[in-house]
Amino acid sequence: MSEWFCETLHSGYGQRLVIDKVLFRERTEHQDLIIFENRAFGRVMALDGIVQTTEGDEFVYHEMLTHVPILAHGRARRVLIIGGGDGGMAREALRHKSVEQVTMVELDRSVVDMCIEHLPSLSNGAFDDPRLDLQFADGAKFVEETDGRWDVIIVDSTDPIGPGEVLFRESFYKACKRCLTDGGILVTQNGVPFVQGGEVTNSFHRLSPHFADVWFYTAAVPTYQGGLMAFGWASDDASLRQLPVPVIAERFEATEIACRYYTPEAHAGAFGLPQFIRKLLVSA
Ligand code: SAM
Repeated sequence: MSEWFCETLHSGYGQRLVIDKVLFRERTEHQDLIIFENRAFGRVMALDGIVQTTEGDEFVYHEMLTHVPILAHGRARRVLIIGGGDGGMAREALRHKSVEQVTMVELDRSVVDMCIEHLPSLSNGAFDDPRLDLQFADGAKFVEETDGRWDVIIVDSTDPIGPGEVLFRESFYKACKRCLTDGGILVTQNGVPFVQGGEVTNSFHRLSPHFADVWFYTAAVPTYQGGLMAFGWASDDASLRQLPVPVIAERFEATEIACRYYTPEAHAGAFGLPQFIRKLLVSA
């Protein structure tokens, strides 16, 4: 009789994935962590009953949350990742030779350790890159206290429940703004609007007092169930999210990075929001 992982993110609606083999399952200091084999998506990591990443579709999420802001910025040398314990975000950011340092602030050391051991394809050596500065701390506390400054900040967090909740507060966004260099860009994991629309509205409302330009962009990541996933976008220059495809393409070609999802056209198109998401962009 197969055992199934049944996601608990939404009441009355959910996905389930058959557990072909449990690779790790334990309560860490902060969260319930499971890593298991699934015949459809490969290795899967979940925290507190919610799918975080899978070998099968992680490339969509990690490519879109790194290459879009880094290429839009055009001169990003220092990147800050809040969360990202599986290492996929660091892997993609470090593919840019122009990036001199990636600081990664992850709450849960066990997530990093177990992903290195049981999900190594995600980080793919990123944790050994000398440009990576890996710190274990609460991301909200870190941005409040650090003297560091970054060109791009990527919030690769869990959902706004449990330890991730503080990474969706206005105080956190305000502190992120303080940590950005002039022309800096903040991007965030911001849920699936069809079933988490309130989180888009909340982020829009909480980002808007601190950034001149707040928007969202999207991509469909199959195991973030419910349709398009939204990525929060905040900067002080609206033109950064409106670059023409030829400019994006020239910058992308110069990186010599081969992607499985990202293209300059997908980058530009991702900012074109469907009406039901645009309607969520209302201040309080
Ligand atoms: N792709 C996933 C998603 O869209 O939900 C996120 C993946 S990543 C594994 C999420 C990471 O955020 C986890 O490693 C978790 O430990 C970390 N995290 C949660 N709350 C945090 C906090 N307050 N500070 C830093 N990291 C945090």
